[in-house]
Amino acid sequence: VIALIGAPRADAAAPPYQDPSLPIAARVDDLLGRMSLDEKIGQMTQAERASVTDADITTYRLGSLLSGGGSAPSPNTATSWADMYDRFQSRALATPLAIPLVYGVDAVHGHNNVHGATIFPHNIGLGAARDPALVEQIGRATADEVAATGLDWNFAPCLCVARNDRWGRTYESFGEQPEIATAMTSYITGVQGGGVLATAKHYIGDGGTTGGDDQGDTQLSEADLRAIHLPPFAEAVRKGVGSVMISFSSWNGQKLHGHQHLITNVLKGELGFTGFVVSDWNGIDQIDGAPGMTAAEVRQAVNAGIDMVMVPEAWRTFIGHLRAEVQAGRVTQARIDDANRRILTKKFELGLFERPYAVRAPIGTAEHRALARQAVRQSQVLLKNDGNILPLAREGNRIFVAGRSADNIGYQSGGWTITWQGGSGAITPGTSILAGIRASVAPSTTVTYNANGTGIDSSYRAAIAVVGETPYAEGQGDRPGAMGLASTDLNTIARLRAAGVPVIVVLVSGRPLDIATQVPNWRALLASWLPGTEGQGVADVLFGGYRPTGKLPVTWMASAGQQPINSGDGKPPLYPYGFGLTY
Ligand code: BGC
Repeated sequence: VIALIGAPRADAAAPPYQDPSLPIAARVDDLLGRMSLDEKIGQMTQAERASVTDADITTYRLGSLLSGGGSAPSPNTATSWADMYDRFQSRALATPLAIPLVYGVDAVHGHNNVHGATIFPHNIGLGAARDPALVEQIGRATADEVAATGLDWNFAPCLCVARNDRWGRTYESFGEQPEIATAMTSYITGVQGGGVLATAKHYIGDGGTTGGDDQGDTQLSEADLRAIHLPPFAEAVRKGVGSVMISFSSWNGQKLHGHQHLITNVLKGELGFTGFVVSDWNGIDQIDGAPGMTAAEVRQAVNAGIDMVMVPEAWRTFIGHLRAEVQAGRVTQARIDDANRRILTKKFELGLFERPYAVRAPIGTAEHRALARQAVRQSQVLLKNDGNILPLAREGNRIFVAGRSADNIGYQSGGWTITWQGGSGAITPGTSILAGIRASVAPSTTVTYNANGTGIDSSYRAAIAVVGETPYAEGQGDRPGAMGLASTDLNTIARLRAAGVPVIVVLVSGRPLDIATQVPNWRALLASWLPGTEGQGVADVLFGGYRPTGKLPVTWMASAGQQPINSGDGKPPLYPYGFGLTY
């Protein structure tokens, strides 16, 4: 009777690869032996979910999908993400071998594409917190929210070592020294402990390009490349990271996407990486410097050691080119089998064959938000506090709050939040910094808010200006020219100063800004980075709920001319690497 109502039993007809009691290596071997070339090429193909029909997944035996740049189902809820995932997965399971998809997403500061998720500080803030155990917990909480929407794979952590703050991805870096990113590989342990595949990206040297150009050229000797940019990846491999994403950038003029020495010899050989290597978005198209994906680029990328190619839209072209290259003997069967072995091993390890469908759960939970608030507190770096104006009194105070980032969840979350470039306003539930300030004070304190500082007078004891950068992602955030505050922000601060009250500046930014000439006019300066949805953590530091502990993970330039760091203009920085006050 028990068997009839569905107790687990071995299906005598099921092939060995479907048998969870066998070792994974045996299951992979069995499955590989049953696969056609087209099925193997399908496993190496990752398409953007908006560029495939359900039928394509079955017809082309696609092995992986991604939601690139925030690409979300409509409505953007956890439930519709899980429904979408299950629908696609059912199409993969409808193929003869029923190999499940692995679905990737950029959950780079929490499950940031999904409305209602907990948004954690961007990596630069976590680098300031310098707390690997905290970062491991964040990795775990992020994995829990990713898994709650069905997805299996997170394109994080970014282990870039950002050496030039002009780079638009500086905030995705834990800091300018390799030891910080190396320590923060604890994130990988957290993510993978939650049953989600992590990705160490972008291999290698993405943060070291000349001029801080996104997707630029990193000009370094191999010794320097290894000393500065390799250690975090070596540690990621040691911690068992499941995938590594290749950088769009070049090393001494050669694109990483075709770099056999660095991918096959160094990463897979020397470091002993046994997971799989994924390309970046259309990254293989850039190998020859001309637009469009050629067969030669496909050949070079796969032979260099890329196992799965993120070909968001041109996946049919990729499949055609790779099949032709294998048939012509220019890509060997052995290379195809090696790539498949790596990918399938991870699919088995993730348990996808046994549990292919979403296990739904709540996201944005109170527990995760409390963790994010704690991370925000620890990420704040107090750079100036003349006359110990901080912490502010909670009782009997008169406070004026201004600045376009004061009441803006989108701005305080930065890029990679709901959409690729981020947004403005109430893009997802959270606590703005202003709301956090209001919640921190006693009823006897007056808090007045005006975004541009209008209406302030000398009766206030302190003015708080929450200003900084508006959201951006990747190359759109490159700042080859001036790196100071926008005139809107400077005007706001000027209005506050004109009232003659002390001004506390809370800087919401993805990197240090060129502010040396303004800082003398401010009583206090708090670097908040991009704190995410839990703005209460910033207010906790302003009002003594948490004594600041953050330390600069990057050198704070005295002028934009000091980029890249340590460029040696002979003058001291405004604040050195590691600086941070407390009260
Ligand atoms: C970025 C990667 C990201 C990928 C998928 C690329 O443009 O460089 O970091 O994982 O898009 O969204």
